Amino acid sequence: MNIILLGPPGAGKGTQARRLVEERGMVQLSTGDMLREAKDSGTEMGKRVAEVMARGELVTDEIVIGLIREKLEGENGGGFIFDGFPRTLAQADALGSLLAEEGQTLEAVIEMQVDDAALVSRITARSTCGSCGEVYNDVTKPIPADGKCSNCGGTEFKRRADDNEESLRQRLMEYYKKTSPLIGYYYAKGLLKGVDGLGEIDEVAGQIAAIID
Ligand code: ADP
Ligand code: ZN
Repeated sequence: MNIILLGPPGAGKGTQARRLVEERGMVQLSTGDMLREAKDSGTEMGKRVAEVMARGELVTDEIVIGLIREKLEGENGGGFIFDGFPRTLAQADALGSLLAEEGQTLEAVIEMQVDDAALVSRITARSTCGSCGEVYNDVTKPIPADGKCSNCGGTEFKRRADDNEESLRQRLMEYYKKTSPLIGYYYAKGLLKGVDGLGEIDEVAGQIAAIID
């Protein structure tokens, strides 16, 4: 079962993807994570994309399609979860071709619906564990009082360079201009399912589980 999690920055795609990995052994393919890894490891490509990402703009289709192509050849466990990809119509077309080449199909595109006001407060309050990537939120899921990650015990937490109001405004603009057309694209293919992304993490997970089962 291969699915796409679609939605604006801060909709909760990464949080839900991590749960699906834990609970169902699915494989999360997050182009945002892959690009941040490239940046942190100082590869040429990582250096090139760092500024684009910090501004909240999209990196080129060619780069992200290349990243996804490599991963599709690997193990997919209980299926792939595409998180933050595709983000343009060209990427969606490329994904269709790549899956077809691998003899794979896409079963559902889950659109996580949230309003902009919620996105701003979620994102500006967000931090993640430097060791395991567990996501925290200053308001709804604060870092434990003992300063240790509840998942792995790590003590270092990071905030993303693009999690500030200005970059977020740009990321939202990119989403509405370039990514939201995918809603119609997948609706027309009969694959689109909407979930209300404003509820508690467990509630949203329940809605997603109902779609997958
Ligand atoms: P978010 O969904 O919270 O904005 P991501 O971690 O998915 O964050 O992406 C962070 C940044 O990485 C994006 O703003 C963009 O610059 C780049 N990026 C990630 N995925 C893609 C993609 N599929 N196409 C183009 N750029 C991407
Ligand atoms: Zn951790």
